[in-house]
Amino acid sequence: MSGDASKKTSTPGWLAAGLPHVWLPYTQMKTASPPLAVVGTDGARIILADGRELIDGIASWWTACHGYHNSHIRAAVERQLAQMPHVMFGGLAHEQALTLAKRLSALLPGDLSRVFFSDSGSVAVEIAMKMAVQYRINRGQRGRTKFIAFKSGYHGDTTGAMAVSDTDEGMHALFAGLLPQHLVVDLPEGDEKAAALESVVERHANELAGIIVEPSVQGAGGMKFHDARVLRRLRALADKYDLLLIFDEIFTGFGRTGTMFACEAANVTPDIVTLSKALTGGTLPLAATVATRKVFDAFWSDDPQKALMHGPTYMANPLACAAANASLDLFEHKPRLQQVQEISTALTEGLEPCRGLPGVKNVRVKGAIGVVEMTRIDNYDGLRARFVEEGVFIRPFGNVIYLTPAFTIRPEELKALTGAIVKVVKDGVA
Ligand code: PLP
Repeated sequence: MSGDASKKTSTPGWLAAGLPHVWLPYTQMKTASPPLAVVGTDGARIILADGRELIDGIASWWTACHGYHNSHIRAAVERQLAQMPHVMFGGLAHEQALTLAKRLSALLPGDLSRVFFSDSGSVAVEIAMKMAVQYRINRGQRGRTKFIAFKSGYHGDTTGAMAVSDTDEGMHALFAGLLPQHLVVDLPEGDEKAAALESVVERHANELAGIIVEPSVQGAGGMKFHDARVLRRLRALADKYDLLLIFDEIFTGFGRTGTMFACEAANVTPDIVTLSKALTGGTLPLAATVATRKVFDAFWSDDPQKALMHGPTYMANPLACAAANASLDLFEHKPRLQQVQEISTALTEGLEPCRGLPGVKNVRVKGAIGVVEMTRIDNYDGLRARFVEEGVFIRPFGNVIYLTPAFTIRPEELKALTGAIVKVVKDGVA
Protein backbone atom coordinates (compact mmCIF):
# COMPACT_ATOMS: atom_id res chain seq x y z
CA MET A 1 0.00 0.00 0.00
CA SER A 2 1.27 3.41 -0.68
CA GLY A 3 1.17 6.71 -2.38
CA ASP A 4 4.39 5.50 -4.01
CA ALA A 5 4.82 7.81 -7.00
CA SER A 6 7.51 5.57 -8.46
CA LYS A 7 4.81 3.12 -9.66
CA LYS A 8 3.51 3.44 -13.25
CA THR A 9 1.94 6.83 -13.72
CA SER A 10 0.61 6.57 -17.28
CA THR A 11 -2.97 7.74 -17.81
CA PRO A 12 -5.24 4.92 -19.01
CA GLY A 13 -6.58 5.33 -22.54
CA TRP A 14 -10.20 5.32 -21.43
CA LEU A 15 -9.57 8.30 -19.13
CA ALA A 16 -7.94 10.42 -21.82
CA ALA A 17 -10.60 9.44 -24.37
CA GLY A 18 -13.63 9.91 -22.11
CA LEU A 19 -12.64 12.95 -20.08
CA PRO A 20 -13.49 15.50 -22.79
CA HIS A 21 -17.05 14.08 -22.81
CA VAL A 22 -17.90 13.84 -19.14
CA TRP A 23 -19.15 16.58 -16.78
CA LEU A 24 -17.95 15.93 -13.24
CA PRO A 25 -19.75 16.74 -9.97
CA TYR A 26 -19.04 19.95 -8.05
CA THR A 27 -16.15 20.67 -10.41
CA GLN A 28 -14.90 23.69 -12.30
CA MET A 29 -14.01 21.61 -15.34
CA LYS A 30 -11.57 24.19 -16.72
CA THR A 31 -9.26 24.39 -13.75
CA ALA A 32 -9.69 21.15 -11.82
CA SER A 33 -7.05 18.44 -11.85
CA PRO A 34 -8.20 15.30 -13.66
CA PRO A 35 -9.88 12.68 -11.44
CA LEU A 36 -7.93 9.67 -10.23
CA ALA A 37 -8.41 6.62 -12.45
CA VAL A 38 -9.84 3.79 -10.35
CA VAL A 39 -9.82 0.13 -11.37
CA GLY A 40 -10.96 -1.51 -8.16
CA THR A 41 -12.08 -1.17 -4.56
CA ASP A 42 -11.62 -3.56 -1.68
CA GLY A 43 -12.41 -3.14 2.01
CA ALA A 44 -11.28 0.39 2.84
CA ARG A 45 -8.99 0.60 -0.22
CA ILE A 46 -9.29 2.30 -3.58
CA ILE A 47 -7.06 0.74 -6.23
CA LEU A 48 -5.79 3.12 -8.89
CA ALA A 49 -5.03 2.32 -12.50
CA ASP A 50 -1.33 3.08 -11.91
CA GLY A 51 -1.13 0.41 -9.23
CA ARG A 52 -1.27 2.64 -6.18
CA GLU A 53 -3.74 1.88 -3.37
CA LEU A 54 -5.33 4.62 -1.31
CA ILE A 55 -6.96 4.17 2.08
CA ASP A 56 -10.41 5.63 1.71
CA GLY A 57 -11.37 8.16 4.37
CA ILE A 58 -14.90 8.91 3.21
CA ALA A 59 -16.40 5.60 2.05
CA SER A 60 -17.69 6.97 -1.25
CA TRP A 61 -19.73 9.85 0.06
CA TRP A 62 -20.59 7.99 3.29
CA THR A 63 -22.20 4.98 1.66
CA ALA A 64 -19.80 2.01 1.94
CA CYS A 65 -20.33 1.32 5.63
CA HIS A 66 -19.32 -2.37 5.37
CA GLY A 67 -16.29 -1.57 3.22
CA TYR A 68 -16.12 -2.14 -0.51
CA HIS A 69 -16.84 -5.46 -2.16
CA ASN A 70 -18.55 -7.06 0.78
CA SER A 71 -18.99 -10.70 -0.15
CA HIS A 72 -22.42 -11.11 1.48
CA ILE A 73 -23.88 -8.13 -0.39
CA ARG A 74 -22.22 -9.17 -3.63
CA ALA A 75 -23.66 -12.69 -3.40
CA ALA A 76 -27.16 -11.32 -2.73
CA VAL A 77 -26.95 -9.00 -5.74
CA GLU A 78 -25.59 -11.79 -7.95
CA ARG A 79 -28.47 -14.08 -6.96
CA GLN A 80 -30.96 -11.32 -7.68
CA LEU A 81 -29.25 -10.52 -10.99
CA ALA A 82 -29.66 -14.15 -12.06
CA GLN A 83 -33.33 -14.12 -11.03
CA MET A 84 -34.60 -10.65 -12.05
CA PRO A 85 -32.52 -7.47 -12.32
CA HIS A 86 -35.48 -5.18 -12.64
CA VAL A 87 -39.22 -4.97 -12.90
CA MET A 88 -41.40 -1.88 -12.61
CA PHE A 89 -43.06 -1.29 -9.24
CA GLY A 90 -46.37 0.00 -10.64
CA GLY A 91 -48.96 -2.78 -10.37
CA LEU A 92 -46.19 -5.32 -9.67
CA ALA A 93 -44.39 -6.29 -6.49
CA HIS A 94 -41.37 -8.41 -5.70
CA GLU A 95 -39.98 -10.12 -2.64
CA GLN A 96 -36.87 -8.01 -2.09
CA ALA A 97 -38.75 -4.70 -1.92
CA LEU A 98 -41.57 -5.98 0.26
CA THR A 99 -39.17 -7.71 2.62
CA LEU A 100 -37.05 -4.57 2.82
CA ALA A 101 -40.09 -2.38 3.55
CA LYS A 102 -41.09 -4.66 6.39
CA ARG A 103 -37.56 -4.77 7.80
CA LEU A 104 -37.12 -0.99 7.66
CA SER A 105 -40.46 -0.50 9.40
CA ALA A 106 -39.37 -2.86 12.15
CA LEU A 107 -36.02 -1.10 12.58
CA LEU A 108 -37.30 2.47 12.61
CA PRO A 109 -38.75 3.89 15.82
CA GLY A 110 -42.43 4.52 16.52
CA ASP A 111 -44.89 3.77 13.76
CA LEU A 112 -42.72 4.87 10.84
CA SER A 113 -44.16 2.06 8.80
CA ARG A 114 -44.95 3.04 5.20
CA VAL A 115 -41.96 2.94 2.89
CA PHE A 116 -41.93 4.78 -0.44
CA PHE A 117 -38.88 3.78 -2.49
CA SER A 118 -36.92 5.98 -4.87
CA ASP A 119 -33.45 6.08 -6.33
CA SER A 120 -31.51 8.93 -4.73
CA GLY A 121 -31.39 10.95 -1.56
CA SER A 122 -32.50 14.18 -3.22
CA VAL A 123 -35.54 12.47 -4.69
CA ALA A 124 -36.39 10.94 -1.30
CA VAL A 125 -36.37 14.50 0.09
CA GLU A 126 -38.58 15.76 -2.74
CA ILE A 127 -41.03 12.97 -1.96
CA ALA A 128 -41.00 13.79 1.76
CA MET A 129 -41.79 17.43 0.97
CA LYS A 130 -44.52 16.46 -1.50
CA MET A 131 -46.03 14.08 1.07
CA ALA A 132 -46.04 16.85 3.67
CA VAL A 133 -47.70 19.38 1.34
CA GLN A 134 -50.26 16.88 0.09
CA TYR A 135 -50.95 15.80 3.68
CA ARG A 136 -52.25 19.36 4.10
CA ILE A 137 -54.14 19.41 0.81
CA ASN A 138 -55.80 16.08 1.60
CA ARG A 139 -56.95 17.59 4.90
CA GLY A 140 -58.37 20.67 3.16
CA GLN A 141 -55.46 23.06 3.91
CA ARG A 142 -54.23 24.15 0.48
CA GLY A 143 -52.09 27.12 1.51
CA ARG A 144 -49.60 25.27 3.69
CA THR A 145 -46.67 24.73 1.34
CA LYS A 146 -43.65 26.19 3.12
CA PHE A 147 -41.04 24.52 5.31
CA ILE A 148 -38.90 25.55 8.21
CA ALA A 149 -35.34 24.54 7.30
CA PHE A 150 -31.99 25.33 8.90
CA LYS A 151 -28.84 27.29 8.29
CA SER A 152 -26.00 24.96 7.27
CA GLY A 153 -28.59 22.38 6.25
CA TYR A 154 -28.16 20.35 3.08
CA HIS A 155 -30.80 18.09 1.57
CA GLY A 156 -29.71 17.53 -2.01
CA ASP A 157 -29.28 19.08 -5.43
CA THR A 158 -32.75 18.86 -6.98
CA THR A 159 -34.79 22.07 -6.97
CA GLY A 160 -37.04 21.30 -4.02
CA ALA A 161 -34.19 19.91 -1.95
CA MET A 162 -31.97 22.90 -2.79
CA ALA A 163 -34.73 25.22 -1.64
CA VAL A 164 -34.66 23.75 1.88
CA SER A 165 -30.86 23.74 1.99
CA ASP A 166 -28.86 26.74 3.19
CA THR A 167 -28.42 28.77 0.03
CA ASP A 168 -26.61 31.62 1.76
CA GLU A 169 -23.62 29.63 2.96
CA GLY A 170 -23.88 26.37 1.09
CA MET A 171 -22.94 25.20 -2.36
CA HIS A 172 -26.10 26.58 -3.93
CA ALA A 173 -25.39 30.22 -3.15
CA LEU A 174 -25.80 31.17 -6.83
CA PHE A 175 -29.43 30.15 -6.60
CA ALA A 176 -30.26 32.28 -3.56
CA GLY A 177 -33.53 34.09 -4.18
CA LEU A 178 -34.35 32.07 -7.29
CA LEU A 179 -35.79 28.98 -5.64
CA PRO A 180 -39.16 28.48 -3.93
CA GLN A 181 -38.95 30.47 -0.71
CA HIS A 182 -38.90 28.64 2.61
CA LEU A 183 -37.90 29.84 6.06
CA VAL A 184 -34.23 28.98 6.61
CA VAL A 185 -33.42 29.80 10.24
CA ASP A 186 -31.00 28.99 13.07
CA LEU A 187 -31.29 25.61 14.76
CA PRO A 188 -32.90 26.03 18.18
CA GLU A 189 -29.65 25.66 20.12
CA GLY A 190 -30.20 27.40 23.43
CA ASP A 191 -33.25 29.22 24.76
CA GLU A 192 -32.80 32.40 22.75
CA LYS A 193 -32.70 30.67 19.37
CA ALA A 194 -35.55 28.39 20.43
CA ALA A 195 -37.68 31.43 21.23
CA ALA A 196 -36.74 33.06 17.92
CA LEU A 197 -37.71 29.92 16.04
CA GLU A 198 -41.03 29.69 17.84
CA SER A 199 -41.89 33.26 16.97
CA VAL A 200 -41.18 32.55 13.26
CA VAL A 201 -43.35 29.44 13.41
CA GLU A 202 -46.13 31.31 15.19
CA ARG A 203 -46.16 34.06 12.55
CA HIS A 204 -46.13 31.66 9.61
CA ALA A 205 -48.04 28.68 11.01
CA ASN A 206 -50.85 28.91 8.48
CA GLU A 207 -48.37 28.75 5.54
CA LEU A 208 -46.24 25.94 6.93
CA ALA A 209 -46.36 22.27 5.97
CA GLY A 210 -43.47 21.07 8.09
CA ILE A 211 -39.97 21.26 9.48
CA ILE A 212 -37.03 19.52 7.80
CA VAL A 213 -33.74 18.83 9.54
CA GLU A 214 -30.72 16.54 9.42
CA PRO A 215 -30.85 15.08 12.92
CA SER A 216 -27.70 15.28 15.04
CA VAL A 217 -25.24 16.11 12.21
CA GLN A 218 -25.55 18.61 9.39
CA GLY A 219 -23.31 16.91 6.86
CA ALA A 220 -22.56 18.66 3.58
CA GLY A 221 -23.28 22.04 5.22
CA GLY A 222 -20.11 21.76 7.31
CA MET A 223 -20.22 18.57 9.44
CA LYS A 224 -21.82 20.47 12.31
CA PHE A 225 -23.16 18.61 15.34
CA HIS A 226 -26.10 19.46 17.56
CA ASP A 227 -27.48 17.76 20.62
CA ALA A 228 -30.68 15.89 21.38
CA ARG A 229 -32.37 18.93 22.92
CA VAL A 230 -32.57 20.51 19.47
CA LEU A 231 -34.53 17.57 18.14
CA ARG A 232 -36.78 17.40 21.18
CA ARG A 233 -37.56 21.11 20.79
CA LEU A 234 -38.42 20.60 17.13
CA ARG A 235 -40.72 17.72 18.01
CA ALA A 236 -42.50 19.82 20.63
CA LEU A 237 -42.83 22.74 18.23
CA ALA A 238 -44.15 20.55 15.43
CA ASP A 239 -46.74 19.08 17.78
CA LYS A 240 -47.78 22.46 19.14
CA TYR A 241 -48.29 24.03 15.69
CA ASP A 242 -49.47 20.88 13.89
CA LEU A 243 -46.46 20.66 11.55
CA LEU A 244 -44.97 17.50 10.10
CA LEU A 245 -41.44 16.85 11.30
CA ILE A 246 -39.13 15.43 8.62
CA PHE A 247 -35.79 13.93 9.61
CA ASP A 248 -33.37 13.62 6.73
CA GLU A 249 -31.27 10.64 7.86
CA ILE A 250 -29.66 10.18 4.46
CA PHE A 251 -26.23 10.80 6.00
CA THR A 252 -26.85 9.86 9.62
CA GLY A 253 -28.87 6.66 9.10
CA PHE A 254 -27.40 3.17 9.49
CA GLY A 255 -25.04 3.63 12.37
CA ARG A 256 -22.94 6.61 11.31
CA THR A 257 -23.58 8.63 14.48
CA GLY A 258 -23.41 5.66 16.88
CA THR A 259 -27.03 4.46 16.90
CA MET A 260 -28.79 2.79 14.00
CA PHE A 261 -30.63 6.06 13.32
CA ALA A 262 -29.69 9.43 14.80
CA CYS A 263 -33.26 10.03 15.97
CA GLU A 264 -32.95 7.08 18.38
CA ALA A 265 -30.27 8.81 20.45
CA ALA A 266 -32.64 11.75 20.99
CA ASN A 267 -35.62 9.48 21.54
CA VAL A 268 -37.60 11.51 19.02
CA THR A 269 -39.72 10.01 16.26
CA PRO A 270 -40.28 12.20 13.21
CA ASP A 271 -43.41 12.00 11.06
CA ILE A 272 -41.37 11.28 7.94
CA VAL A 273 -37.80 10.04 7.58
CA THR A 274 -35.60 9.92 4.47
CA LEU A 275 -32.94 7.25 3.99
CA SER A 276 -30.38 6.52 1.29
CA LYS A 277 -26.54 6.39 1.08
CA ALA A 278 -25.65 3.45 3.41
CA LEU A 279 -29.04 1.81 2.80
CA THR A 280 -27.43 -0.55 0.25
CA GLY A 281 -24.05 -0.59 1.97
CA GLY A 282 -22.71 1.59 -0.82
CA THR A 283 -23.35 -0.79 -3.68
CA LEU A 284 -26.39 0.42 -5.63
CA PRO A 285 -28.54 3.55 -5.68
CA LEU A 286 -31.66 3.33 -3.54
CA ALA A 287 -33.57 5.66 -1.24
CA ALA A 288 -36.65 5.48 0.93
CA THR A 289 -39.10 7.99 2.33
CA VAL A 290 -40.82 6.44 5.32
CA ALA A 291 -44.02 7.86 6.79
CA THR A 292 -45.90 7.27 10.02
CA ARG A 293 -49.41 5.92 10.07
CA LYS A 294 -50.72 9.44 10.78
CA VAL A 295 -49.24 10.71 7.50
CA PHE A 296 -50.28 7.67 5.51
CA ASP A 297 -53.84 7.84 6.85
CA ALA A 298 -54.31 11.27 5.24
CA PHE A 299 -53.82 9.59 1.83
CA TRP A 300 -56.03 6.54 2.58
CA SER A 301 -59.34 7.34 0.90
CA ASP A 302 -61.92 6.32 -1.69
CA ASP A 303 -60.99 9.50 -3.52
CA PRO A 304 -58.32 8.83 -6.22
CA GLN A 305 -57.26 12.49 -5.98
CA LYS A 306 -55.90 11.81 -2.51
CA ALA A 307 -53.33 9.27 -3.76
CA LEU A 308 -49.63 10.16 -3.78
CA MET A 309 -48.92 10.76 -7.47
CA HIS A 310 -45.29 9.79 -7.56
CA GLY A 311 -43.39 6.85 -9.07
CA PRO A 312 -39.75 7.02 -10.14
CA THR A 313 -39.13 4.56 -13.01
CA TYR A 314 -36.49 2.56 -11.15
CA MET A 315 -38.09 2.75 -7.72
CA ALA A 316 -37.56 -0.37 -5.60
CA ASN A 317 -35.10 -1.81 -8.12
CA PRO A 318 -34.73 -5.48 -7.11
CA LEU A 319 -30.92 -5.47 -7.27
CA ALA A 320 -30.74 -2.44 -5.00
CA CYS A 321 -33.33 -3.89 -2.61
CA ALA A 322 -31.39 -7.18 -2.49
CA ALA A 323 -28.25 -5.19 -1.62
CA ALA A 324 -30.16 -3.32 1.10
CA ASN A 325 -31.54 -6.53 2.60
CA ALA A 326 -28.03 -7.99 2.63
CA SER A 327 -26.72 -4.82 4.25
CA LEU A 328 -29.36 -5.12 6.99
CA ASP A 329 -28.27 -8.76 7.52
CA LEU A 330 -24.78 -7.45 8.22
CA PHE A 331 -26.10 -4.92 10.73
CA GLU A 332 -27.95 -7.80 12.41
CA HIS A 333 -25.07 -10.26 12.48
CA LYS A 334 -21.92 -8.17 12.70
CA PRO A 335 -20.94 -5.83 15.54
CA ARG A 336 -21.28 -2.68 13.44
CA LEU A 337 -22.33 -0.30 16.22
CA GLN A 338 -19.49 -1.61 18.38
CA GLN A 339 -17.11 -0.92 15.48
CA VAL A 340 -18.49 2.63 15.25
CA GLN A 341 -17.66 3.10 18.96
CA GLU A 342 -14.12 1.89 18.38
CA ILE A 343 -13.71 4.17 15.37
CA SER A 344 -15.02 7.04 17.45
CA THR A 345 -12.35 6.48 20.10
CA ALA A 346 -9.62 6.13 17.47
CA LEU A 347 -10.75 9.29 15.65
CA THR A 348 -10.79 11.23 18.91
CA GLU A 349 -7.25 10.14 19.76
CA GLY A 350 -5.92 10.34 16.22
CA LEU A 351 -7.20 13.83 15.41
CA GLU A 352 -6.49 15.37 18.82
CA PRO A 353 -2.95 16.51 17.80
CA CYS A 354 -4.61 18.87 15.28
CA ARG A 355 -6.16 20.90 18.08
CA GLY A 356 -4.27 24.13 18.49
CA LEU A 357 -2.32 23.84 15.24
CA PRO A 358 -2.22 27.03 13.15
CA GLY A 359 -5.36 27.38 11.04
CA VAL A 360 -7.37 24.83 13.03
CA LYS A 361 -10.62 26.18 14.43
CA ASN A 362 -12.14 23.06 15.93
CA VAL A 363 -11.69 19.30 16.17
CA ARG A 364 -14.78 17.19 16.79
CA VAL A 365 -15.93 13.59 16.60
CA LYS A 366 -19.37 12.00 16.67
CA GLY A 367 -19.79 8.28 16.00
CA ALA A 368 -17.72 7.40 12.95
CA ILE A 369 -17.39 11.04 11.85
CA GLY A 370 -14.17 12.91 12.56
CA VAL A 371 -13.83 16.58 11.67
CA VAL A 372 -10.98 19.06 11.62
CA GLU A 373 -12.53 22.45 10.98
CA MET A 374 -10.09 25.00 9.59
CA THR A 375 -10.53 28.76 9.71
CA ARG A 376 -10.42 28.53 5.93
CA ILE A 377 -9.19 26.32 3.14
CA ASP A 378 -7.79 28.02 0.07
CA ASN A 379 -6.01 25.25 -1.76
CA TYR A 380 -8.44 22.32 -2.19
CA ASP A 381 -6.60 20.84 -5.15
CA GLY A 382 -3.22 21.07 -3.41
CA LEU A 383 -4.67 19.56 -0.25
CA ARG A 384 -6.34 16.68 -2.06
CA ALA A 385 -3.18 15.96 -4.06
CA ARG A 386 -1.13 16.02 -0.89
CA PHE A 387 -3.42 13.45 0.72
CA VAL A 388 -2.99 11.19 -2.29
CA GLU A 389 0.78 11.51 -1.87
CA GLU A 390 0.26 10.31 1.70
CA GLY A 391 -1.60 7.24 0.37
CA VAL A 392 -5.09 8.30 1.48
CA PHE A 393 -8.26 9.54 -0.19
CA ILE A 394 -9.71 12.48 1.72
CA ARG A 395 -11.79 15.24 0.15
CA PRO A 396 -12.04 18.43 2.18
CA PHE A 397 -14.89 20.80 1.39
CA GLY A 398 -15.95 24.20 2.73
CA ASN A 399 -13.62 24.69 5.67
CA VAL A 400 -13.58 21.09 6.86
CA ILE A 401 -11.25 18.14 6.52
CA TYR A 402 -13.24 15.11 7.61
CA LEU A 403 -13.26 11.34 7.88
CA THR A 404 -16.30 9.05 7.52
CA PRO A 405 -14.60 5.69 7.01
CA ALA A 406 -16.11 2.25 6.49
CA PHE A 407 -17.09 0.69 9.82
CA THR A 408 -14.90 -2.29 8.92
CA ILE A 409 -11.74 -0.24 8.48
CA ARG A 410 -8.70 -1.78 10.19
CA PRO A 411 -7.13 0.11 13.13
CA GLU A 412 -3.85 0.62 11.24
CA GLU A 413 -5.72 1.99 8.23
CA LEU A 414 -7.59 4.44 10.43
CA LYS A 415 -4.31 5.46 12.04
CA ALA A 416 -2.89 6.14 8.58
CA LEU A 417 -5.87 8.40 7.82
CA THR A 418 -5.70 10.45 11.01
CA GLY A 419 -1.89 10.54 10.77
CA ALA A 420 -2.10 11.92 7.23
CA ILE A 421 -4.47 14.67 8.37
CA VAL A 422 -2.22 15.66 11.28
CA LYS A 423 0.83 15.73 9.02
CA VAL A 424 -0.80 17.71 6.21
CA VAL A 425 -2.39 20.23 8.61
CA LYS A 426 0.96 20.63 10.40
CA ASP A 427 2.61 21.30 7.06
CA GLY A 428 0.12 24.12 6.47
CA VAL A 429 -1.03 22.86 3.07
CA ALA A 430 -4.61 24.14 3.47
N1 PLP B 1 -29.73 14.67 2.30
C1 PLP B 1 -28.57 14.61 2.94
C2 PLP B 1 -28.53 14.80 4.42
C3 PLP B 1 -27.39 14.37 2.24
O1 PLP B 1 -26.22 14.33 2.91
C4 PLP B 1 -27.45 14.17 0.84
C5 PLP B 1 -26.23 13.94 0.07
O2 PLP B 1 -25.13 14.20 0.49
C6 PLP B 1 -28.69 14.23 0.21
C7 PLP B 1 -29.81 14.48 0.96
C8 PLP B 1 -28.80 14.04 -1.28
O3 PLP B 1 -28.61 12.72 -1.61
P1 PLP B 1 -28.23 12.31 -3.12
O4 PLP B 1 -26.88 12.84 -3.39
O5 PLP B 1 -28.30 10.82 -3.11
O6 PLP B 1 -29.28 12.92 -3.99
